[in-house]
Amino acid sequence: MSLTTLTRLLTAAVSLGATLTAGATLQPQYNGSYPASTGTDAASFAKTKFDFVVVGGGTAGLVFAYRLSENPKVSVGVIEAGQYRPDDPLIGTPTAGNLLGNADIGTLLGNPTYDWMFQSVPQTALNGLVIDYPRGKVVGGSSAINSMIWQRASDVDYDNWNTVFQNGPGWSAQGLEPYFKRVESWTEPELLFPGQQRDPALANEHGTNGPISVSYDTFLTDIEVPSVAAANSIGIPTNSNPDGGNETFIALTARSVDPKTGLRSYAGNAYYQTAIGRPNLKLLSQAVVSKINFSKSGKSGIVATGVNYIVGGKTYTVNVEKEVILAAGSLKTPQILELSGVGNKTILSNLGIDVVLDFPQIGENLQDHPVTLLDFKVKDDVLTLDRLNYNQTYSFEQQVLYNTSASGAMSYTEAVVGPLPLQKTVDSSTFDAMFSNLTATLATQQQTPIQKVQYAALESMVKSGAVGWFELTVVPSGGVASTAANGSNYLTSVAIELHPFGRGYVHINSTDPTVQPVIDPKFLEIPWDAEVLVHGSQWVRKWMQSEPIAGLLEGEITPSLNVQSDEEWDAYVRTAVRTTNHPLGTTAMASRALGGVVDPNLKVYGLANVRVVDAGIIPMTIGVAIQSTIYAMAEKAADLVKSTYGI
Ligand SMILES: Cc1cc2nc3c(=O)[nH]c(=O)nc-3n(C[C@H](O)[C@H](O)[C@H](O)COP(=O)(O)OP(=O)(O)OC[C@H]3O[C@@H](n4cnc5c(N)ncnc54)[C@H](O)[C@@H]3O)c2cc1C
Repeated sequence: MSLTTLTRLLTAAVSLGATLTAGATLQPQYNGSYPASTGTDAASFAKTKFDFVVVGGGTAGLVFAYRLSENPKVSVGVIEAGQYRPDDPLIGTPTAGNLLGNADIGTLLGNPTYDWMFQSVPQTALNGLVIDYPRGKVVGGSSAINSMIWQRASDVDYDNWNTVFQNGPGWSAQGLEPYFKRVESWTEPELLFPGQQRDPALANEHGTNGPISVSYDTFLTDIEVPSVAAANSIGIPTNSNPDGGNETFIALTARSVDPKTGLRSYAGNAYYQTAIGRPNLKLLSQAVVSKINFSKSGKSGIVATGVNYIVGGKTYTVNVEKEVILAAGSLKTPQILELSGVGNKTILSNLGIDVVLDFPQIGENLQDHPVTLLDFKVKDDVLTLDRLNYNQTYSFEQQVLYNTSASGAMSYTEAVVGPLPLQKTVDSSTFDAMFSNLTATLATQQQTPIQKVQYAALESMVKSGAVGWFELTVVPSGGVASTAANGSNYLTSVAIELHPFGRGYVHINSTDPTVQPVIDPKFLEIPWDAEVLVHGSQWVRKWMQSEPIAGLLEGEITPSLNVQSDEEWDAYVRTAVRTTNHPLGTTAMASRALGGVVDPNLKVYGLANVRVVDAGIIPMTIGVAIQSTIYAMAEKAADLVKSTYGI
């Protein structure tokens, strides 16, 4: 180790909080290759003529801004509520801020510098449990604080966008494939899991010249390989090419980490920072958009003239020449539309907001992946990431390794994921009983047009037995489902429901744009969703009780072996549900007849020049984590807009 590296290591000032407590420090990661500030202020931004004003400098917003501003004749302004933090090691270092979207960690998540820190309303089916909803509030948005898992869904999930939601063949697995590739600079995995082959087809699925670095873990703890072998031993095969149109079964997952630097690769550094010098691109940070301004209807709908934003308590207006692009995320874009008078007229009128366009579907159709967690105590000599917490020597060695070679424990992200068809884990009579209960429940429901087609599609998908219905993951650290005792090793094993039937909403109940909207995901209100998580959790226990992982464990801590019957599991699950942080669907892309909010060009129906490009447009949950899909959608959105204007 050089003296400079050692000095930097010792003088670095950022504490890693609860994740890495024992003497852990990180060095700033600014390498001087881009300006350290965004170089604009509220007043001069307001005076600039922009062709496009992008609301939200997060995942989708920065992709869109980057692509449109490639043409120097097109001027793009981005307004972002959070700070610009280009050299922040908490964002950059994979283990620093967020494993498993754990809102208790208090470094990135639960920290107002990075996180909007939303909360759901008390959940009726969870005995009033309130769900923490972290959302990125920083340049890069949620891509700056997420867990970096990089997955592509099975073809059926994207093909539904074409067939079920009537968006045309451009919105299908095949139509999206070039955009997935355009995003990525993919590096092939060095390590292989048990049962995993080097599959040349895997490389064919990926791009090699895109802005986001996509790679695989080069460091594993003692947990991952035995976990995969244990899954194999109970009939879950390894999938060597989960990105080839069938995501099911256990796989080494990719992640958005640059293998050369060991840093998170996200919309902030991969897209925005590389474009920051363009004179035709301006990003105003720490500015909260409060409203879109409209003039009277033109031939193709009501025309947006610009947006209002608040900085330091003062409201500014910026005009737009062509379009307003909403990219504030699935929980904030509906709020901005509603504050602007576009939404359910009853909600708006009750708050005294003038109705520009009565649009009751805005903010409805909220869907997410609910998750339950089990904690296991691991034997003392087995390596997990917890060693970083309690062993100063190990922690120091790993920092040095990370700082000098971008490798080791601090470069770790979750490596094992396994979406499983339900039929793989429940016998046929259990499945049949569950399914007939489901159809009985749905028969009693009043369903909207979009729900009707969603439920028909979901029923056929689950019956096919070919689609992942819940996902197994193992995280080699504790303190997630229960508090880990210091000096001990744990693992957290997880069941995520991938295609729930529950539908919630997000709406305003205040005219103040800084007040969080009301978020109700309505988790587990449909009994089927609870049954899936019960079976998923039982399967997780079975998995962890299988060799060779079982031999590394001292036992289950949470919920503990006291929980045995289906009823006991059901009671546990209702105390343990969290979000996997994939809210979507609140401005769904679907035909107008189905109650869609945006059309296949992502334009809001009835508005002449407002598009939505964020997670809200995904019409139904897909069977994987959603970031790579959002990047691909935003790439496609940029192409659609470029072709509209001949750019
Ligand atoms: C904790 C966490 C863990 C996750 N882990 C994974 C994972 O491992 N893998 C995966 O695939 N996905 C993961 N996700 C999901 C994924 O990261 C997000 O779904 C995705 O980044 C959302 O992109 P977006 O463009 O829709 O919104 P965002 O990226 O959230 O961008 C919205 C932006 O708009 C800004 N904004 C909002 N309102 C305003 C306003 N009024 N004025 C100005 N700016 C505003 C926000 O500050 C934010 O920067 C995770 C998400 C979270 C939060």
